[in-house]
Amino acid sequence: MSQQNFRRTKIICTIGPATANYQMLEKLAAAGMNIVRLNMSHATHDSAAQIVQWVRTINRKARYPVAILLDTQGPEIRTGDLEKPIELKSGEVVELTVLDETDVEHTSIRIHYNELITSVVVGDRITVDNGLMNFKVLEKHGGRLKCSVLDGGMLGSKRHVNLPGIRVNLPAITEKDIKDINFGVSQGVDFIALSFVRAASDIHQLRELLGEKAQAISIIAKIEDQEGVANKEEIAEVADGLMVARGDLGIETNISEMPNTQRELVRTTAVKGRRSIVATHLLESMINNPIPTRAEVTDVANAIYEGVDAIMLSGETGIGLHPVRCVEQLHEIAMASERFPGLGFETQLIARNDKQFIAKSAVDLAHATQARGIIVITRRGIMADQVTNCNPVDVPVFAFTNISHTRRRLMLNRSVYSFRTAFSNDPEKTLQIAFTVLKDRAGLNSGDKVVVISDILAESKVDAIQLRRL
Ligand code: PEP
Repeated sequence: MSQQNFRRTKIICTIGPATANYQMLEKLAAAGMNIVRLNMSHATHDSAAQIVQWVRTINRKARYPVAILLDTQGPEIRTGDLEKPIELKSGEVVELTVLDETDVEHTSIRIHYNELITSVVVGDRITVDNGLMNFKVLEKHGGRLKCSVLDGGMLGSKRHVNLPGIRVNLPAITEKDIKDINFGVSQGVDFIALSFVRAASDIHQLRELLGEKAQAISIIAKIEDQEGVANKEEIAEVADGLMVARGDLGIETNISEMPNTQRELVRTTAVKGRRSIVATHLLESMINNPIPTRAEVTDVANAIYEGVDAIMLSGETGIGLHPVRCVEQLHEIAMASERFPGLGFETQLIARNDKQFIAKSAVDLAHATQARGIIVITRRGIMADQVTNCNPVDVPVFAFTNISHTRRRLMLNRSVYSFRTAFSNDPEKTLQIAFTVLKDRAGLNSGDKVVVISDILAESKVDAIQLRRL
């Protein structure tokens, strides 16, 4: 990637049947994919381990690494197995039950949630298959719910069920999630996206599960329901970032409010200095079509104006016909939209420490002097995070670290492109290595002005800013 086509917003791709092979991953990376998403609602440990291995191979020769995000299934409710899909007509009455293993008849649909009957009251809505089919509870008797079909359709096996506005009494981290998280740790994933986060305690529980050894893994809280939205401040306080999981949010909350919710969630991350991801239906029509709708392009641009760190493709790259074109399209929209002023949520950032003020000074200096880059020398990436929090415009941030995991996880940060280099005891030597890398690999030239920020520039480990020429 040259300086001219340096993109600030990062791209996450869900890997599925359409892309789960080495050649495709290579093409996606070349088109601009920054992070691979392993969706544990569908992936097996074997298939996920294979993807991790392919990504590692690609990273050996790539200019910038592709990071790996493991997304848990979370406390999902699903319908049971059906021998063949059944047609449900709007207006007809059906029974939902938690009793039988397999649905034996058209009128009795099994749902995998033992507390279904006690959780709902007459008049509640039950939604199946991501909002496509809707039921209204008419009566409760025994282990069954009598429901009218509000919106009919073809019901297949294992469809996603939502109970909008109802607190589902399932653990925040299920047995399956624990197995998947332990698998992720063993594979060295960079991020864990925890589904259906409803409170800060869910994140504490995950950190405890990760233990000392895996504390460096970044935790992204997926906000998917009303409770998560209501608790966004406390969740953002303890997570490393929030994902606006619009698939479930669009069902669990009033869909007309969803753009406001998105904006509020992104603003919360900006205020607290956390990362943000907008997910789902960005280019949904491109699952089948070679071009996006006008509304999709505008939606992606709006997320970019909001200043999100990353935008995430799901079905588009998981099962779509045009996965590489989707990434190219996101890249183009980002490049165009980033030329336009954003909403400026970063001005509401609450600085928590002096490092944050120093990062802000470095960004101001880079803007004032029209520097060609901000160089951050960082071990764990904290100073790079603080530069990202200030959302620099028109100037890339180049992070240099001696830790591979830090390098990969910084690929989520808006505007940050990272390298791994050895650090010397002599600060000037470390800097000269960074300058050489930028000239060799990032399209910068001798004489270019850069702002350098680090705590390793002085022997006494004080934070310092320098204005330098390569
Ligand atoms: C979503 O709901 O938007 C989302 C990203 O979660 P999942 O795809 O796991 O349902």
